[in-house]
Amino acid sequence: MQDTLTALRGLQEIDRHIFRVQAELERLPKELEQRQEVLVRLKEAIVEREFSVKELRVRIKEIEDATTGLRQRQRKLENESNTAGVDAALLASFQHEIRQVKRTVSQAEDDGLRLVSEADEVEKGLTELQERLAEENKTFEEFQGNVSKETEEAETKLAELSTKREKEASTSIEAPVLDLYTKLLASRGGEAMAELADMVCQGCFVGIPRNLSVRLARQVEIVQCPNCQRILYSF
Ligand SMILES: [Zn+2]
Repeated sequence: MQDTLTALRGLQEIDRHIFRVQAELERLPKELEQRQEVLVRLKEAIVEREFSVKELRVRIKEIEDATTGLRQRQRKLENESNTAGVDAALLASFQHEIRQVKRTVSQAEDDGLRLVSEADEVEKGLTELQERLAEENKTFEEFQGNVSKETEEAETKLAELSTKREKEASTSIEAPVLDLYTKLLASRGGEAMAELADMVCQGCFVGIPRNLSVRLARQVEIVQCPNCQRILYSF
């Protein structure tokens, strides 16, 4: 049984590395995807703001055109009110209309100014976002380069470990024991074995009953931790 445990520990040594490399190979594309999503959201925000700015500029232009038209109307009314032969009633009517046009112009100018400052604000935010995107793009490209390099390295390492593992696993470990070990490896985060030290399982740090420790010392059977089920060994 001691031989089996030794063989299992040899296997565990390799599998621990394999587990880490596999986790790395899963993590890398996920992280890449997350970073890509950030870029997509940034681009969306930029498009949205570009649209807002465009819309605001159109409205500002409309207001400017309307104001120009109103000013022309104002001048025309002023000219007409100054021509000879205008009686008092007509003059009063002209003046009334002129006052109305002036009020409308003043209101439109206020609206225009408000929209201009709003557009400036949005444009400022837009510039900041564009700068951020340029930076994020650069970081992303670097990251992407690193990821493909790291992935390649991890794949090479995994191939090496797999070859090594095949050799180890072909040593005499009974099928049911190897089965148990393999299941534990998957369910216990790549650690199927645990040392028993001072009656405490070093995999989950829970104390185990004395009889189990005695059984382990006899070296005639596989003994598992009653708490984490890992295969126990001791020195
Ligand atoms: Zn345990």
